[in-house]
Amino acid sequence: MSTFLELGLKEPINKALTDLGYEKPTVIQEKAIPQIISSTDDLKAFAQTGTGKTAAFSLPILELLDEKNGNVQAIILSPTRELAVQIGNNIKDFCKYLPDVKVTTVYGGSSMEDQIRSLKRGSQIVVGTPGRTVDLIKRRALKLGNVQWLVLDEADEMLNMGFKDELDKVLEATPETKQTLLFSATFPREVEAIARNYMTKPVEITSGEKNAGSENVSHEYYSVTERTRYPSLKRIADLNPDIYAIIFCRTRRETQEVADNLIRDGYSADSLHGDLSQGQRDSVMGKFRKRTIKILVATDVAARGLDVTELTHVLNHKLPDQIENYTHRSGRTGRAGNKGISIVLVNGKEKGKLRQIERIIKKKFVEGKVPTGKEIVKNQLMNLIDKVQNTEVNESEMEEFLPSIYEKLEALDREELIKKFVSLEFNTMLKYYENSKDLNDLSSKDNSRARASDENMTRFFINIGRKDNLNPGKLIGLINEQNIGDKVEIGAIDILDTFSFFEIDKNFEDATLSAFLDNQPDFDGRSVNVEVTKKERGGGGGRRGGGDRKSFGNKREGGFGRKKSSDGGSSRRSSDSSRRSDRSTDRPDRSSRGASDRSSSSERSPGGFGRRRKD
Ligand code: AMP
Repeated sequence: MSTFLELGLKEPINKALTDLGYEKPTVIQEKAIPQIISSTDDLKAFAQTGTGKTAAFSLPILELLDEKNGNVQAIILSPTRELAVQIGNNIKDFCKYLPDVKVTTVYGGSSMEDQIRSLKRGSQIVVGTPGRTVDLIKRRALKLGNVQWLVLDEADEMLNMGFKDELDKVLEATPETKQTLLFSATFPREVEAIARNYMTKPVEITSGEKNAGSENVSHEYYSVTERTRYPSLKRIADLNPDIYAIIFCRTRRETQEVADNLIRDGYSADSLHGDLSQGQRDSVMGKFRKRTIKILVATDVAARGLDVTELTHVLNHKLPDQIENYTHRSGRTGRAGNKGISIVLVNGKEKGKLRQIERIIKKKFVEGKVPTGKEIVKNQLMNLIDKVQNTEVNESEMEEFLPSIYEKLEALDREELIKKFVSLEFNTMLKYYENSKDLNDLSSKDNSRARASDENMTRFFINIGRKDNLNPGKLIGLINEQNIGDKVEIGAIDILDTFSFFEIDKNFEDATLSAFLDNQPDFDGRSVNVEVTKKERGGGGGRRGGGDRKSFGNKREGGFGRKKSSDGGSSRRSSDSSRRSDRSTDRPDRSSRGASDRSSSSERSPGGFGRRRKD
């Protein structure tokens, strides 16, 4: 392993690296730095998050650039503002002892005038997001005619984000003679096309085996259904009281929903995605870095700019569309010598992707079991005991209170005392998980049609379906319109093509039938017919829905819309459909733009450990 000096870097740079605690180069640095210093060939580097790629491209540029010349000599493009700012700051750290080198970072959502002023003062290095960079080129505030190095960082992500046109424009504004350095974690067709069209016989390097931290990451998968996905996520969080994690979601909407649910359920969580303003994103990231927030729910792109080294878990609420992104996600944990776990929640259909990912990460996924309530309770209990053991006692401050405390507790023996103190902190968690179901048992039934019915519910057939533009919301509306009774619980709903099923509290079976009979409702011009689906009528005879009836008898955890005492189940409305504003009163603190006020019938988790405390 070489030193930075041996790679060809001068002393002022080496000194800055020593200040930063960089003792030796990473694999990508060892390969890229001498290559860029010694050759003007274009470079195509396979490098993932956390490999040290920022230093890999910026240190040789700092080594070679003309400090006395104020023209822009290097332009570095990166997909997000956060990443651009991070790169800009890194470079400023690297040139701490190169006083004549100036770096300007340009990005949208911030004053263009300030950026123009900074450019006018002269910067050898400009780091920018593609959109703002093009804007500044158009305004002639950014002149790239003297550029010697063009760096495309996270090229795949820039193309994913639709910056193809901007990249083309920047590339056109730079001289033919420049050296292009392209860094990407994946090389889909679009990135290869950029390499082909804009680079001349590039030298290819890789960061070696995946990213730097990956050896320390174990990969687990948990089988879930859509119904158990979120409760399973919560159980994983509950099992790990000291969790500090990113939950990755595929879309902005999914991200916001998961975050809203977690906040509602009392977790110290928040969301990070592109729909938030820059200020909101900065604030969320700041809180997460300071650990005021323990769980960050994020999209792949938004999380890119976040450099956090001590994550305990990466949780994949859903796998990324591009499986290559999985390595980006999992590489966020297991850094700086720490151990990390990357957990994937998959339904039956998604399982196939695991094999493909295994080929990429060259590791096997281990099957995990969604923890049972009992396991969680035991874990939390032991954690509490550890905390008690490690709690420092402030003798002097306590002294004056002790006599009266001893007097009050005199009658209790040691065992009783322990039990009472533990229960004080612990009863909520015990109660919460008292009757919790094993989510793994339910998870094995991936087919939603095989959803088990609850014995307290009656299952009805209704002669309208998807082709009549029916959806669960409309069906709930239709049921509500029949005025069956106050606060009737609606259970599972299955919308099929031409007919559907819904469950209603068994006590309202007759009332439901007579309400539909009396009202003779229409739906989209079709007269509606409702019947009870009897268990014993199964076997495919008679009605088209015969196949569905096999679901009877399998008890499922808490029906939709039912109030539950456990964490299972989804959250459709009960037929009173009123928003339960009373529920929000005991909600924990939220961020300023926190959770939505969605009504939900699912019970909130107790304010246990690793959660936002309700004090
Ligand atoms: P990057 O892949 O450039 O985002 O770097 C990931 C993290 O590794 C950042 O926190 C860097 O500061 C850090 N890093 C980069 N190179 C080294 C090195 N040679 N030694 C120690 N830390 C490094």
